[in-house]
Amino acid sequence: MADVKKIAVIAGDGIGPEVVAEAEKVLKRTEELFGYSFETEHALFGGIAIDEKGTPLPEETLEVCKRADAVLLGAVGGPKWDSNPKELRPETGLLGIRKALGLFSNLRPAVVFDCLKDASTLKPEVLEGTDLMVVRELTGGIYFGDKLRRQGEHGEEAVDTCVYNVMEVERIVRQAFEIAQIRRKKLASVDKANVLETSRLWREVVNRVAPDYPDVEVEHVLVDNCAMQLLRRPSSFDVIVTENMFGDILSDEAAMLTGSIGMLSSASMGEGSFGLFEPVHGSAPDIAGQNLANPIATILSLALMFRMTFGYSDAADAIEAAVAEVLNAGHRTGDIAVDKSKAIGTTAMGDLIVAAIRK
Ligand code: NAD
Repeated sequence: MADVKKIAVIAGDGIGPEVVAEAEKVLKRTEELFGYSFETEHALFGGIAIDEKGTPLPEETLEVCKRADAVLLGAVGGPKWDSNPKELRPETGLLGIRKALGLFSNLRPAVVFDCLKDASTLKPEVLEGTDLMVVRELTGGIYFGDKLRRQGEHGEEAVDTCVYNVMEVERIVRQAFEIAQIRRKKLASVDKANVLETSRLWREVVNRVAPDYPDVEVEHVLVDNCAMQLLRRPSSFDVIVTENMFGDILSDEAAMLTGSIGMLSSASMGEGSFGLFEPVHGSAPDIAGQNLANPIATILSLALMFRMTFGYSDAADAIEAAVAEVLNAGHRTGDIAVDKSKAIGTTAMGDLIVAAIRK
């Protein structure tokens, strides 16, 4: 009997259910074509869970996720819940689910599709061949260190503390090396080791574990330099690994290379191969329920799941090739269309991609 992989499917709010439905069509097609076997279990999360269960992250949703090998998430949130108290806001559920599932790294690929080069604010010749992955530490650093307000010599002051221990650095650095091994075998470790003690520790750990991955070429890049090089020579990067705050900023910068938020996939990974896969965009309440959303970010998130969690790189390659083929043939949803009058809907885009998947 085929190895059955369990996927928790969380559609969420706004355009979430629309884009997840298209990814599920792709899932079904790859199952037929490649002989893989998936079992999906749906769960409530976000605003819809607040409405139906009184909490953004119901216990049974967490159970569904923990039973699964991977989670596919649409998006959560919307104006209906914006004025709720903090514990009843969809975004609170997002932090809660990452913590409860032990997800300590965030992966953001930034791939520039040739036919969309003009959608970026950078010159097409600079973008040529860009295909990078930012690996961001997600649960440590200055966002989680002690915070303090106090009276100082010159009035009120504020303190944020940045703390990293060797275990936290080593697990994400090793993950980044492993990702580099299944990509182009180049790793840029980004820090601020000329100034920060946490960065010096980070660099020491990278240098200590690097000999375990002799096939990966490592460079240390200072964060300010990395911010510049991403705009100057983005195609020279393969995998970038960095701490929480630097990663927050650099992953948004890298995302903008590609031009449209409707195209960006992401993964949050824990120990082993378990991960939560979701588009970078939110629930887009302005276009929800109108068949206008671009489903490609979610479909590419599914491809990332195949690659990262299941090791099904043949299916991941086939999905990514299908997306490229459909775009090359000129099909566009409204967010990436130059001529908006020719834009196609969410379901039509999903159908075209499904039809283009080949073994
Ligand atoms: P957003 O990403 O939802 O939308 C920003 C803009 O991009 C909108 O104009 C939207 O129409 C467009 N857009 C986004 N995704 C698109 C797609 N797939 N196809 C076409 N156009 C797309 O960000 P926002 O407006 O700041 O937030 C809306 C809601 O989503 C808020 O409640 C926010 O808290 C939530 N949010 C959730 C997540 C998440 O679930 N991980 C992430 C970000 C924002």
